[in-house]
Amino acid sequence: MAKRPRLVIVGGGLAGLLLAAHAGERFRDLLNISVIERALPRAPEASLDTRATALSRGSKELLETWGFWEEVSESAKAIENIHVSRKSRFGSALLQDEIADTDPMGWVVENALLQAALLARCEAAGIEVIEGHEVVNFMTTCDRPVLELDDQRELVADVVIIADGAESSLRNQLGIGVKRRAPSQFAIAFNCESDGIDDGIAYERFTDEGPLAFLPLPGSGGNKPRYNVIWCAHQETQSRLLALDDHDFIDELQAMVGWRAGRVTKIGRRAGWPLSVVVSRELVRSRCLLLGNSAHTVHPVAGQGFNLSVRDVERLIALFDAELGTESPFESVARLSDFERASLSDHEQTIAATTLLSGLFDTPQPLIDSMSSVALSAMDILGPLRRGVANFGMGRR
Ligand SMILES: Cc1cc2nc3c(=O)[nH]c(=O)nc-3n(C[C@H](O)[C@H](O)[C@H](O)COP(=O)(O)OP(=O)(O)OC[C@H]3O[C@@H](n4cnc5c(N)ncnc54)[C@H](O)[C@@H]3O)c2cc1C
Repeated sequence: MAKRPRLVIVGGGLAGLLLAAHAGERFRDLLNISVIERALPRAPEASLDTRATALSRGSKELLETWGFWEEVSESAKAIENIHVSRKSRFGSALLQDEIADTDPMGWVVENALLQAALLARCEAAGIEVIEGHEVVNFMTTCDRPVLELDDQRELVADVVIIADGAESSLRNQLGIGVKRRAPSQFAIAFNCESDGIDDGIAYERFTDEGPLAFLPLPGSGGNKPRYNVIWCAHQETQSRLLALDDHDFIDELQAMVGWRAGRVTKIGRRAGWPLSVVVSRELVRSRCLLLGNSAHTVHPVAGQGFNLSVRDVERLIALFDAELGTESPFESVARLSDFERASLSDHEQTIAATTLLSGLFDTPQPLIDSMSSVALSAMDILGPLRRGVANFGMGRR
């Protein structure tokens, strides 16, 4: 029997593990797969500090087709509606899906649970997961890429998927440049609990300095809703807010979000970072392809980063399918570039839409400012505009 080509995935974040699990099941006897991950997250604890991801309806449909949805849905929280409003201005909109309004608009899953489910699928598919080690050197001068690990092990790959995150060291070692947009906004992410109603509504509030998003979290205890919050603001505001004690921080949060989600009673640990948009200039080099945050790190306001990666996984699986039917799989850069061609327009559209959304009201021009409020008001009246925004959020193209 011919030797199976070796696929090495660097990075066991959500993007790398999803590709590994799906490829492992689909090409069980055709590919030899290894995942290298510096540090897998520990089993999730019952804590207010879990990180979560909103999955669009488009991602749910793909996960369903791939046979992953059943276990993911067990711990997912449905987003029934998205309430969009503007701080201190008239205008609000409730985004509901009018075509099939029996199905939720999206689902929120805890990252650690999703990662654990994907890891279990990788193990069941016989994938080698090299945990606790990192790639320290990456050589592409020979006819196949060679990856050197921190314990001096060397892996020779037929194809490498670079899924090592936004500050990808492998992308840098390949000399692939990035387009980086300096941050005009800075985020604070945390979870909170409120005394409101656990009705599956997500809240998107546009403030003068950026959006403030409340995503309903799964596992709300004793009917107390929990939310994953991302608050975007200018740098001075972010620094000031991060320095406040919990009590004062909750007061400012409440003043900013209003009372629709109830009274905020408790918040978890706050994390702050600059919201730069980082986009790789290339996705393909000889026997190497970029996936996930190493290819595109987008503004988290519309929750699109992982959803974009799910569509990239679909495109990579189609590419592997085609390559494994050829005499020399993964050898032709021209053939691998089909992935880049198919992905780039999706990346560009998603980044343009999230950039537009994040900066919608962060503008000093009074005309644009009042037009934006009118647009928000009109969204509740005009079906097509509302449907456009809702469809984007649900991952429909
Ligand atoms: C606050 C926030 C909220 C978000 N919300 C959403 C959302 O609601 N919906 C959505 O679709 N997306 C969302 N995203 C984006 C989403 O989280 C990411 O797109 C997704 O997790 C995919 O990340 P990744 O696997 O590409 O990268 P990462 O999660 O960064 O994983 C990269 C992995 O590579 C490993 N690694 C790095 N270097 C090496 C090396 N040399 N050797 C071995 N291992 C290495 C790291 O340890 C890491 O585990 C959000 C992002 C943020 C920051």
